[in-house]
Amino acid sequence: MPIFEYKCTKCGGVNEVLVPSASAKAPACPACGNKKTEKQFSSFAAVVKEPAPAASKCQTCPGAGGCPNFNG
Ligand SMILES: [Zn+2]
Repeated sequence: MPIFEYKCTKCGGVNEVLVPSASAKAPACPACGNKKTEKQFSSFAAVVKEPAPAASKCQTCPGAGGCPNFNG
């Protein structure tokens, strides 16, 4: 189940809410009771970092052949 952030248009409070689907209607603000809240997408679009690629050859020599720092 996705978590969405809803920002209150009245008091500006941001609330994280578990919603059953992306088309679910926005919940009321728990702080002030305002029914107009805007869905935010900040936390759900987190950047996934790619792992560093394994070194296939020595980074300091032009070639792997005869490099003392690379075995294989
Ligand atoms: Zn509010």
